[in-house]
Amino acid sequence: MSRHGLPVIAVGGGIAGAAFATELARSGCRVILLERTSHPSHKVCGEFLSQDAQTALAALGIDARALGATGIDRFRLVKRERYAEAPLPFAAAGLSRLCLDEALLAAAERAGATVVRGAAVTGIEATGGEVVARTELREWRGAAAGLGTGKHAMRGLRRAPGEMVGFKLHLKASAAAAQTSPAWCNSSSSEAGTLAPALSRAAS
Ligand SMILES: Cc1cc2nc3c(=O)[nH]c(=O)nc-3n(C[C@H](O)[C@H](O)[C@H](O)COP(=O)(O)OP(=O)(O)OC[C@H]3O[C@@H](n4cnc5c(N)ncnc54)[C@H](O)[C@@H]3O)c2cc1C
Repeated sequence: MSRHGLPVIAVGGGIAGAAFATELARSGCRVILLERTSHPSHKVCGEFLSQDAQTALAALGIDARALGATGIDRFRLVKRERYAEAPLPFAAAGLSRLCLDEALLAAAERAGATVVRGAAVTGIEATGGEVVARTELREWRGAAAGLGTGKHAMRGLRRAPGEMVGFKLHLKASAAAAQTSPAWCNSSSSEAGTLAPALSRAAS
């Protein structure tokens, strides 16, 4: 039990927030996780899981392969019609964040955390040994809070602006293209075909 019997508040239910909540709940802490989205949603992420990532997920009780992850064993660099290819030194996997994040939130709940969806935290304040996280509808009091909002800044806890911008595109292959394209082209996402993540510098 946390100080004063108050829960620990996890703000954000992505990879970091859900893992934080799961580990704390497993160790006997009362945890409330506040996630702003009310339903599964896509994330700007390449959805590539290295061996280390799969090991970390396994420690949280997540088996990426059992969730339908696609095996990835080669690296391919493509420019127009030309490409260079090399085997990866480990067995990687590709899994939609749409699927992975829901599995992580379910793991947090299984561990005993209370997951609240549709709760966008608008500000966090520390007062008198307590932490208050505010959403539009109510205040949540906790003994401590963990900020797992990813790239999203929080009022009063603004992050230094970076100069990178991420893009992601889901492309659905035509029936003909799907027949001729190599297996690596078909992503694990049930909704999407090829994933095309990219990073670029923000226009100044
Ligand atoms: C283009 C691109 C490609 C990438 N490709 C890969 C890859 O292939 N493999 C890989 O391992 N990593 C990849 N990454 C990195 C990976 O996406 C991040 O490391 C990871 O998403 C960070 O997890 P997180 O939990 O910190 O943040 P996020 O995944 O962003 O989760 C933050 C969560 O907080 C919630 N939230 C935000 N604000 C609030 C609020 N105010 N109140 C409540 N909830 C809130 C959001 O809804 C979200 O669910 C990529 C990143 C980019 C940009």
